Amino acid sequence: NSLSQHASDQLAALLNGFGLAAKTPLSNWIDGDLVAGEGEEITLINPATGDALVSYRDAGAGLIERATQAAQRGQREWMALTASERGRRMNAAIRALEGHEEALAQLESVVAGKPIRDCRAEVGKVREMFEYYAGWCDKQHGEVIPVPTSHLNYVRHVPYGVVGQITPWNAPMFTCAWQLAPAMAAGNGVVLKPSELTPFTSVVIAKQLERGGLPKGLINIVNGLGKTTGAALTDHPAIGKLVFVGSPQSGRMIAEAGARRLVPSVLELGGKSANIVFADAKLDEAVAGAQAAIFAAAGQSCVAGSRLLIERSVFEQVTTRLARAAEQIHVGLPSDEATRMGPLQNRRQFEQVTRMIEAAEAQGARVLTGGKRPEGLPDDAQGYFIAPTVLVDVTPDMEIAQQEVFGPVLVAMAFDNKEEAIRLANDTRFGLAGAVWSQDVARAHRVAGQLRAGTVWINSYKAISVMSPFGGFGDSGFGRSSGLDGLREYTVPQSVWVETAPEASVAFGYGSGV
Ligand code: NAD
Repeated sequence: NSLSQHASDQLAALLNGFGLAAKTPLSNWIDGDLVAGEGEEITLINPATGDALVSYRDAGAGLIERATQAAQRGQREWMALTASERGRRMNAAIRALEGHEEALAQLESVVAGKPIRDCRAEVGKVREMFEYYAGWCDKQHGEVIPVPTSHLNYVRHVPYGVVGQITPWNAPMFTCAWQLAPAMAAGNGVVLKPSELTPFTSVVIAKQLERGGLPKGLINIVNGLGKTTGAALTDHPAIGKLVFVGSPQSGRMIAEAGARRLVPSVLELGGKSANIVFADAKLDEAVAGAQAAIFAAAGQSCVAGSRLLIERSVFEQVTTRLARAAEQIHVGLPSDEATRMGPLQNRRQFEQVTRMIEAAEAQGARVLTGGKRPEGLPDDAQGYFIAPTVLVDVTPDMEIAQQEVFGPVLVAMAFDNKEEAIRLANDTRFGLAGAVWSQDVARAHRVAGQLRAGTVWINSYKAISVMSPFGGFGDSGFGRSSGLDGLREYTVPQSVWVETAPEASVAFGYGSGV
């Protein structure tokens, strides 16, 4: 159809513009070059129309080998620079994206099916992450430990060497920069595998950054399936650490692959975050916050506020207002400036969301709004659209209240007191995020302190910053990204001892006086 044709033409022009070639795109950035894959063909589907968009070839183990060797060479060159020079180079590299932001946002929008305005915001985040971590390059001093005066003991934070990173399709540019920037600032070379569903923007980012003055081969982007290219990366003997952003199912496989080689991992996984609204909250703000928490990115966000817990006295009022607000959201084509919510990214996701809504209804949940294809879309838009959905009459044991939907589906449940709110909020295997809405400051802090979640907001939702540590409890993963904690994941402490006693006293056992 004409919509599909227009998107394919737009994509071809964008890929050509970035030098990736439109026909069987050069889908990898390895050792300073654009390289085509060597494995089977992977076809991308247009999320808005359901038609084929473009095909590229899986990278495979051979390209992982080349990328890893390049990263080792690039890393040695990187560490031969002074720390301040590394910071200057990172800042210069990010400036090489200037003038390409709009094309990058469009490339993401057409492939990921994300509203163009969200993609522009994501490009802004890329810049923020590099600028922030560039500043850390020459500020990663170690510590001196106050051991007895017979010795001087100091700790250095040394890079792993080459790290392997694997990212998902829901925020490809964000997660790419989120992990590339601290890895480089800490002194590592990188091989990153984006999701096979959103391969191109990470390649463009790496290419532009390197053009901006990074050593050749320091960062490499290799695209392909998890079971082929991804597995070759996690199993490669030169990879010193694995950093994974994605689903708990795949995260478990990554951690197992790491365990086989005794290599540590960071896992940034999914969530089932609770958004708690007390009756004394400013309800206008709480409703707006709850709406943004679940419907932004069509719910395809790890921190989506997918469980709304509402104090019983205002349950009816809040859910009714929320349903009306959900019906006002402009659901439309990703390329449309007015679109606030686009389609789901892929068929598997669409089928999962649809199935979970049906299963919830079969178990007694009631659809207050949504649950089906939204009205008012162009006829050509036969892709993966689902209207913003609010479910009530949900019990905590239902699948829809326990499992991540990763779609625009909110479940609302009532509570009678603070203790029940906390119990419901923590009644999940996940622990990524949560929020409390109340004007009683003391109560809000008390509840926040009892939530088993890596990030908690009070009278807000989704505020995040590259400066503040982010990560999960339980099935939401382990390790932290962003901030100093995120940087430290990319280094290992090395303890160095110097004998300083007037007469050297090398002793058996634990050494004299230490
Ligand atoms: P996914 O787990 O299906 O895929 C993520 C990545 O893992 C992809 O690149 C995929 O190719 C790769 N992969 C899969 N199996 C592999 C294997 N055996 N070996 C190596 N690599 C493998 O996840 P998805 O569907 O792309 O993303 C959605 C999920 O990501 C959701 O659960 C979401 O909550 C989560 N997520 C978490 C965060 C966070 O920061 N916590 C951020 C964004 C998304």
